[in-house]
Amino acid sequence: MSATTPRTPASAAGPGANGPGSAPPVVRAAPDVDADSAPSWAALRAGRVALQRCTACGRVRFPPMPGCPHCGATGFEEVEASGGGTVYSWVRVHRTADERFAADVPYTIAAVDLDEGCRMFGRLEPPAEPSIGARVGFAFVHHGDWTELRFAGADGPAGAAGEPAAGPGSAGGAGA
Ligand SMILES: [Zn+2]
Repeated sequence: MSATTPRTPASAAGPGANGPGSAPPVVRAAPDVDADSAPSWAALRAGRVALQRCTACGRVRFPPMPGCPHCGATGFEEVEASGGGTVYSWVRVHRTADERFAADVPYTIAAVDLDEGCRMFGRLEPPAEPSIGARVGFAFVHHGDWTELRFAGADGPAGAAGEPAAGPGSAGGAGA
């Protein structure tokens, strides 16, 4: 396999807006959507968090998968997360190996135990240092054609948000 791809900072972001003085456009890697995860991504786009609940043992799982990791049964029903969870752990990112996130540091990634019983990972906004066990809610960040789930602390922003600002004076980045 030729798995190594050279990191090409701004040139990989697409045409245009690459001259001196203009901030390079922020380009997020779109998720790889498959048959199992497609309903979850569609739900996020609509501002919901869809989870799978095993119809045999009743446990809720994440990420979406064709079988229950607890009992092996394949039957499940979709349930919507109630919107709350607690911080299980977190890490603050100060340096990133991916240029696409260089403008975002520092940011916080949290592991959150949802009230439904499964654990998810995502950014925590604002990028504070949370307490283990702190209550968080959902924040939906819409990128070009997909939506990212983040978590928001009790004093943080909740609800829908647009693409984070790419930088000062960036022109025309919020369209589409
Ligand atoms: Zn099960």
